[in-house]
Amino acid sequence: MVNATSEQEPTGRDAEDAFPAAAGLRLTIDLSALVRNWRRLAGLAAAAECAAVVKADAYGIGLAAAVPALREAGCRTFFVALPEEGAKARALAPDAAIYVLNGFFPEAAALYRAAALRPVLGHRGEIESWASAAGGAPAALHVDTGMNRLGLRPDEAAALPPGLAERAGIALVMSHLACADEPGHELNAVQLARFSALPLPHPAAHRSLANSAGIHLGTAYRFDLVRPGIALYGGASHPDALSEPVATAEARILQVRNASAGETVGYGAAERLARDSRIAILSAGYADGYPRSAGKGERPAAQVFVGGKRLPILGRVSMDLIAVDVTDLPESNVEPGGWAELFGPCMPIDDVAADAGTIAYELLTGLSRRAARRHADGGTS
Ligand SMILES: *Cc1c(COP(=O)(O)O)cnc(C)c1O
Repeated sequence: MVNATSEQEPTGRDAEDAFPAAAGLRLTIDLSALVRNWRRLAGLAAAAECAAVVKADAYGIGLAAAVPALREAGCRTFFVALPEEGAKARALAPDAAIYVLNGFFPEAAALYRAAALRPVLGHRGEIESWASAAGGAPAALHVDTGMNRLGLRPDEAAALPPGLAERAGIALVMSHLACADEPGHELNAVQLARFSALPLPHPAAHRSLANSAGIHLGTAYRFDLVRPGIALYGGASHPDALSEPVATAEARILQVRNASAGETVGYGAAERLARDSRIAILSAGYADGYPRSAGKGERPAAQVFVGGKRLPILGRVSMDLIAVDVTDLPESNVEPGGWAELFGPCMPIDDVAADAGTIAYELLTGLSRRAARRHADGGTS
């Protein structure tokens, strides 16, 4: 019953989301798969606590459904990117620790206080500003061990004035791995060594280094808390990861048409047919967040699962339409009114992302509001 609230509480998405039957692209979210992914990672993390990264609307699958499901599964620590996301998560998880990865935005100080948000602090001025604004309310300290993104450099962390970390309520010291998805990359061990050498601001502070892929790098990387994101949502983070798909994107089949060898398909006449062909036209395009780069370009086009087979896109992806080569399917397998899987259990999201020259993260978070969303048990949100 993890998603029991999903039917009573529409989340304010577009009104047409209440009518997935009339959708061009429909997205089915399997919250039980999300929960199984979290449990599997929590088991792997063993002694370390398993948090959940739910930034960017829980990687596009929907924060409003994801947070209650994860909380019910036992997750007690959440990470978001922005204070507004944190406030939304707070309403769904009254008792959780909620960290804001992008830090402290002083103009939103009242929001941090009201929602008991914990900023992840990454430079000296920010730490001082939080210490004076929050009077010792908990926060995390971000130390950059080799990514040059957010966080103090290790020497800056070591040189913080005595007492500042305590005045800023530092409960967690964290860093982020740049190359965790490449287990053999030398930077992993370098970052681990730098992180392990950091002095803790006080003995009770916890430490956290691993994202999804980092969890698979071994016990040494897990410290007190792990922070998986993509592996919760079905993206591959490691060959052994066994993450189940959570989101299934399907496009309505609008037409099936015949075309002759030598004719071209779509904008720019970018595809010239080598044989007499049957073409299924799908109601989804880049306006739905399906990448234009998945169509004909420098790379071979991505595939779509339709009529029981993985078949290639023909020509370019339009704003609202995609053409697929269904010549090799029996006619009865593909008919107008049917659905084609763009990604999900039969069409791995990582394969589609790779063919589009991107990553599953971008595909998931880029899904547009136009897609009709429903849950695997039939609810909409
Ligand atoms: C996004 C993010 C994560 C989660 O990363 P995944 O690769 O999705 O598991 C963890 N930590 C930080 C600091 C992040 O920005």
